[in-house]
Amino acid sequence: GEVATMMDVPITKVIGTCMTLGIMVTQNQRLDAETLTIVADEFGYEVEFISAEIEENLEVVEDKPEDLKPRSPIVTVMGHVDHGKTSLLDYIREANVIAGESGGITQHIGAYGVTLEGGQKIAFLDTPGHEAFTAMRARGAQITDIAIIVIAADDDIMPQTKEAISHAQAAGVPMIFAINKIDREAANPEKIKEKLAGMNLLVEDWGGKYQSHDISAKKGTGVKELLEKVLLEAEVLELTANPDKPAVGTVVEAQLDKGRGYVSTILVQAGTLRVGDYILAGKNHGKVKAMHDERGNIITEAGPSTPVSILGLDGAPTAGDKFNVYEDEREAKQIAAKRTQLQREQSVRTQKHITLAEIGRRIALGQFKELNIILKGDVDGSVEALSDSFSKLSTEEIQVNIIHKGVGAITESDVLLASASDAIIIGFNVRPQGNAKQLAEKEEIDIRNYSIIYDAIDDLRDAMEGMLSPEL
Ligand code: GDP
Repeated sequence: GEVATMMDVPITKVIGTCMTLGIMVTQNQRLDAETLTIVADEFGYEVEFISAEIEENLEVVEDKPEDLKPRSPIVTVMGHVDHGKTSLLDYIREANVIAGESGGITQHIGAYGVTLEGGQKIAFLDTPGHEAFTAMRARGAQITDIAIIVIAADDDIMPQTKEAISHAQAAGVPMIFAINKIDREAANPEKIKEKLAGMNLLVEDWGGKYQSHDISAKKGTGVKELLEKVLLEAEVLELTANPDKPAVGTVVEAQLDKGRGYVSTILVQAGTLRVGDYILAGKNHGKVKAMHDERGNIITEAGPSTPVSILGLDGAPTAGDKFNVYEDEREAKQIAAKRTQLQREQSVRTQKHITLAEIGRRIALGQFKELNIILKGDVDGSVEALSDSFSKLSTEEIQVNIIHKGVGAITESDVLLASASDAIIIGFNVRPQGNAKQLAEKEEIDIRNYSIIYDAIDDLRDAMEGMLSPEL
């Protein structure tokens, strides 16, 4: 309806055009960017997109280089179940390597900061695992600077280890390997490094670029050195932020606390947050009444890379929601209301992610340069064969990336990765498991199942050439 008014054409004509594109819409429906472009083009208009931030009257001011100050790294710990992620986070939380802090951290607020002996700080996200990491990314939030991949030295590179690696790589987040449980008799760190080398991940000892350290999360052996490596990596990344502006950041978790109201843990990413600031986080807003650190200490301000728990929001925002400070309380409320409305409308929104059937059209439009694929199969042989064949379908116009491949059913974590990386999922003799199917429907992820290798390759080739016949 809005587009029709803007172009001054009857609504029925816009709806008709959408129908010819195979999209059934009502006049109240929002169209995605691509459909808008095509529809407008039909009527001789060109669409210019402005970012939602501008639409919300947020000042998007580029930081001046001289205002950027070094900030500490934000780290996520990932790895296969039982390989020691929680133990590592617990050890760091409680350890005495932390300078000048009396007592460990007792509160779980979803993230915590530690200060090392040299005074340097590291912030840890306290929800280990790549699912949480990628769920945030699917919501558009990337807060992790460095991923620690924990691998038990008495085990092997397990499916979830591979997943964690793929998820970190898809996000472009550098990895440091923590080869854990070296206190165990059966531990064989060299075997793990060899296996990593086999995956084209050469660790330093093997002449490669990936830092790794042998640790015992249980005893604390090597943890200090591991953290020093984290700092080294951070130095290379030259992480900076401008601390002298209104705070912006991301919600890590939030809950309703009996007696205290809504408690949200947020991570300040730039600027400085102060008690009394009026913030908008997702659809929720409010004045920051109080701030606490992970030790329960009252704090009055929090700079970049600092996790804080705040009181004062009118509800519980979702993990991954961005937050901003507003000078004008009324404006923040209006935007919150607008976001609530947008979200309602989005539930009836059209296509969000790439589908096989759409690839050809997207390529023809010229803006689509990379096709991300997640490949799952029943046996290693077919996964490798398909992965090779798919990669070979890359052309000058479009690059085919296998962002994750593995043996086993299609999991929720695969769907999240697809959502975060705009990928399609191809299953070979495997089906979605558990809630993966529902999640895929919700996230609008295209999952294709095949049982004949050539069918899969033919379909992908046809799709890339824009020749795929509509799905039956
Ligand atoms: P997560 O699932 O990756 O979070 O793994 P946990 O941290 O819960 O650890 C799984 C099990 O391995 C627990 O029983 C831990 O006590 C044990 N564990 C973790 N790290 C070590 C270690 O360095 N040495 C030994 N011996 N056991 C460990």
